[in-house]
Amino acid sequence: MINGAHVILYSRKSEADREFFRDVLKLPSVDVGRGWLIFGLPPAEVAVHPADEEAKQELYLMCADVDAFVEDMKTRGIACAPVSDQPWGRLTSLTLPGGGPLGVYQPKHPRPPAMKVPSLAKRTPRAPARRLNAGWHAKHRMPKPATLEQRVRWHVAHAEACGCRPIPKRVQLALRSRKSDPT
Ligand SMILES: [Zn+2]
Repeated sequence: MINGAHVILYSRKSEADREFFRDVLKLPSVDVGRGWLIFGLPPAEVAVHPADEEAKQELYLMCADVDAFVEDMKTRGIACAPVSDQPWGRLTSLTLPGGGPLGVYQPKHPRPPAMKVPSLAKRTPRAPARRLNAGWHAKHRMPKPATLEQRVRWHVAHAEACGCRPIPKRVQLALRSRKSDPT
């Protein structure tokens, strides 16, 4: 039933934080359109801790050697908090470019087996092959206001030249009714 986890970080500098995940932590990513990256994660686990305050979620990444991680960050000019030795692991943290905290620890606790999922290949949409063609957009402005006919023509040409967005429902319907019209 469940076949993945999607963690969302809210950030005032989301682009800078995405660059951090891509360039510093070197997580693999997919561009879901217009440069918006979603990152792959290593095997993940969830723990539920008791709390008196309001419910909240935190993200920690795990590593095999937290001292090596801190050293590596230092060479990139990224400061990490002093490693704190806890019964469950050795913990550091850093501040993301957007100002959010990111905990990183070397676990001492046992780790659960990764959940087995059937192959996702067939069910997961592939990354769009084409991206925004800004040059085409600069030369082909949609008239304002546009008639349905103008919109249809614009979107047909757009779909040929650019992959930034799908053809809207209304235009698709107009196209379909045209195709089924024998005249
Ligand atoms: Zn486009």
